[in-house]
Amino acid sequence: MKKIRTRFAPSPTGMLHVGSLRTALYNYLFAKHNNGDFLLRIEDTDKARFVDGSIESLVEILNITGLEYSEGVFRAEALAPNKIVQRGDFGQYIQSERLDIYRKYVDELIKNDHAYFCFCSQERLEEMRKDQQAKKVAPMYDGKCRGLKINSPFQKGGKGDFVIRLKTPEDGFTEFKDLIYGKIRIENKIIDDQVLMKSDGYPTYHLANVVDDHLMKISHVIRGEEWLPSTPKHILLYKAFGWEIPEFAHLPLLLNPDKSKLSKRQGDVTVEDYFKKGYLPEALLNFILLLGWNPKTEEEIFSLEEMIKRFDLSGVNKTGAIFNTEKLDWINGAYIRSMSLEELTKLCVPYLEEA
Ligand code: GLU
Repeated sequence: MKKIRTRFAPSPTGMLHVGSLRTALYNYLFAKHNNGDFLLRIEDTDKARFVDGSIESLVEILNITGLEYSEGVFRAEALAPNKIVQRGDFGQYIQSERLDIYRKYVDELIKNDHAYFCFCSQERLEEMRKDQQAKKVAPMYDGKCRGLKINSPFQKGGKGDFVIRLKTPEDGFTEFKDLIYGKIRIENKIIDDQVLMKSDGYPTYHLANVVDDHLMKISHVIRGEEWLPSTPKHILLYKAFGWEIPEFAHLPLLLNPDKSKLSKRQGDVTVEDYFKKGYLPEALLNFILLLGWNPKTEEEIFSLEEMIKRFDLSGVNKTGAIFNTEKLDWINGAYIRSMSLEELTKLCVPYLEEA
């Protein structure tokens, strides 16, 4: 049987969100449950959203939670403060260090007529979008540059006043079976000619994600539901390359108690916020485990080992999960009560000192 390999692929755009921690946890548990590999990849191809220091803090938070991975990006404090190193047979694991790889693959797509150069200006695209909005049609590239026949200007230096777009088929359907949402089928004519390579020579998320999942031999892509609409584009890319398509499992959204999407406005959303308030990492993980996964028993307290034993994607719900901090308090309390007085005192001291 094929080796199970999963990845956590955050973008370093700030502090780790609790929803992302759940994605990491489910990827970790699924891999461990199946004797597979779990790796950490950093998706930093959007330079405008990059936040300095976020790779380091991400890695630190994962270390604190105990979600160990065998490949990817690690901290090497022994070498220097905040030093980051990469380990594993499929590296580099930081996408901005893999630009040559994406260029090679996008060239292949162009050669095989699955991608094309687009020279449309921002102004033209803006106007097109406004026009589509006025007509109340879905915003999509209109295909003006689809038929251009040119040699690859891209090879000359990698940058220029153009982007490279996916040539989506004009008819037919794209279909896949999501392990949580079931069968999904979408008409190709409503799939946008997605940008694959930007004018700065960086790939977009879509291209880099597919190329890396393939090269890193990822068997199961487990990620937030917000990526479900992108998946048909990814499937088209796998097909264009002639690559085997991994399994997909999209996780339901985390919701505020009023059922709106979990947001900063209604409370804390970063893992760090909860650690600062004194929630124990084990308790937070336990709480997050139950946000969207049903253990099918009345039990509520699970050690990491038990989680690994019990976790199964068939227990993941389709509906959004409410982030209920009362439940978190209860779980945290249960963990605190199970500690020795000594352990607890040690954890309390920094808070007492600060007070
Ligand atoms: N970089 C994406 C994110 O920040 C990863 C999505 C995926 O796992 O494909 O969530």
